Amino acid sequence: MMEKLDIPDHIASIKSYVPGRPIEAIAQAYSLDPAQVLKLASNENPLGPSPGAMAAMSRYAPDVSRYPDNDCTLLTKALADWHEISEEWIVTGAGSESVIGNAVSTLLYSGRKTAYSQYSFQAYGNAVQRVGAEPFIVPSPHLVVDLAGLRDSLSYNPAVVYIANPGNPTGTLLPSEEIYDFLKCVPAHTVVILDEAYLEFVAPDQRGDSVKWVREFPNLLVTRTFSKAYGLAGLRIGYGIAQAALINMLRRVRAPFVDSQLAQIAAQGALGDQEFIEKTVHNNSQSKAILEEGFREMNMSFLPSHTNFLLVNSGNGGKWAEILEQDGIIVRPVTGYGLPQWLRISVGMPKDSVRVIEAMKKLLQRAIAPTNNL
Ligand SMILES: *Cc1c(COP(=O)(O)O)cnc(C)c1O
Repeated sequence: MMEKLDIPDHIASIKSYVPGRPIEAIAQAYSLDPAQVLKLASNENPLGPSPGAMAAMSRYAPDVSRYPDNDCTLLTKALADWHEISEEWIVTGAGSESVIGNAVSTLLYSGRKTAYSQYSFQAYGNAVQRVGAEPFIVPSPHLVVDLAGLRDSLSYNPAVVYIANPGNPTGTLLPSEEIYDFLKCVPAHTVVILDEAYLEFVAPDQRGDSVKWVREFPNLLVTRTFSKAYGLAGLRIGYGIAQAALINMLRRVRAPFVDSQLAQIAAQGALGDQEFIEKTVHNNSQSKAILEEGFREMNMSFLPSHTNFLLVNSGNGGKWAEILEQDGIIVRPVTGYGLPQWLRISVGMPKDSVRVIEAMKKLLQRAIAPTNNL
């Protein structure tokens, strides 16, 4: 007799994460030269990895036959020095997403609750669903995290509250004082995950001092990544900062050898190359200004972005993505987030911004493209 697989409902109902389409796939689909395909779909650093990271990686390459240092000793020490905290307060992971996933596995299970804003990072919702916990999703009618709504959600007694600041796919920033006031309201048994994947792109005077908040709140976990401004998305390396008691648990849950030695070494090299971060942020603001001007000229509204991407009201994000792909430009529809009118475009080099704006204007002129004035 054939037995059926017995997959629990909370797993079978997970929607697969839809990443930006790879360059090779688009080149093949439209017979384009891969070198001409422009990917503005995954918020990657258009400058590539930092020279500091590149140098560290090439020195290490011959040693990849060895297992990595499971404790990430040197990277953890470098991060502790950088943030002026104890090494006991840091856990690394294969991307900050894996740190967030480990926090979810540590704190949530079927029957426990979590609260987060509508239009939050999809990977968070997926991690929650994997463990069968119950999400409370706070409506976000203005596409900005509603902290008052999140505060109200505390009455449901969530074990975890997740906030990305700036957010993805929105790119918007919550004022640091408001986050601090929120943290003060959260009971000790509720852990707040504050995801700061795009922190480096936030103007210094608008950043909250989240490491200082960690000193004050034993139930706060801050996550950071080397994927975005540091340009190491392909290596998968990020980290979490919290007080030792919570970090200790996250370290137990962390799978052995998840952080490759190449990733650890590159991250150390990247951390030591802050000049590259300055360059990255400068390039980002120049190139983002070109996109913003272009969208204004096309009468398309966009959210104020504190990141390396823009969320623009294009009328029909899926359609735009489809027709831009034919021009070899990959952008990100956000229909899966419940935002079918919007389109997320990563900030590339200034010439990339010029290219995408020109392509969009041309498509509008030829009346092929949807508009947001329909
Ligand atoms: C890109 C991103 C991350 C980081 O992902 P990694 O796993 O570190 O590559 C985390 N949170 C948000 C909101 C992001 O957009």
